[in-house]
Amino acid sequence: ESFEGSKLPGEVLECCKGFKKPSPIQSRAWPFLLNGRDFIGIAATGSGKTLAFGIPGIMHVLNKRKGKMSKGRSPLCLVLSPTRELAQQISDVLVDAGKASGVTSVCLYGGTSKGPQKSALKAGIDFVIGTPGRLKDLVEEGVCCLSEVAFVVLDEADRMLDMGFEMEVRSILSKTCSVRQMVMFSATWPLPVHQLSQEFMDPNPVKV
Ligand code: AMP
Repeated sequence: ESFEGSKLPGEVLECCKGFKKPSPIQSRAWPFLLNGRDFIGIAATGSGKTLAFGIPGIMHVLNKRKGKMSKGRSPLCLVLSPTRELAQQISDVLVDAGKASGVTSVCLYGGTSKGPQKSALKAGIDFVIGTPGRLKDLVEEGVCCLSEVAFVVLDEADRMLDMGFEMEVRSILSKTCSVRQMVMFSATWPLPVHQLSQEFMDPNPVKV
């Protein structure tokens, strides 16, 4: 298990330059995610999970856009996170990881003015990372279009439901592309999380 063995393009692996080899969750997840499978990861923070889903997400964008990075393009990938801090952390990693290949990300969270978030969306964005409340707002305002989103990640799914975001999560998921690839990370696997996965994922997701 090496970066060379992953056959990922050099500009996509640029963000891994400082690492010796893929982390265990990365080497488990990449082959499945690059093949379009739905994926459930029971993994804690610190395992390298952001790039475990981030790099396949970047590949999804590159495959879809085929070099056409037009202004005003609507997002292709969505990451939902329970808290602003986590969303910001994921966004920082993805902004950096997408730099060499021109893949862009914006972080949408509440408690701050919508103006800059709207401008970023207008400029053309590949990845949206957001907390459920603000994201649902912007979708309902018609500023954030999810109809082309076919790569969806629910990070810390258990915490997201614990915090009472189930309605928002369902509403947001129902607005993404009906043919989509879904990734779910959760530290625990309680019934509501299981039910959500059954409802929105393939019948046989890979579980690691
Ligand atoms: P995460 O679980 O995504 O929050 O990542 C935790 C930390 O692991 C971050 O500081 C990453 O920069 C780092 N990291 C990610 N991938 C690797 C890797 N393959 N080898 C070593 N460290 C990594």
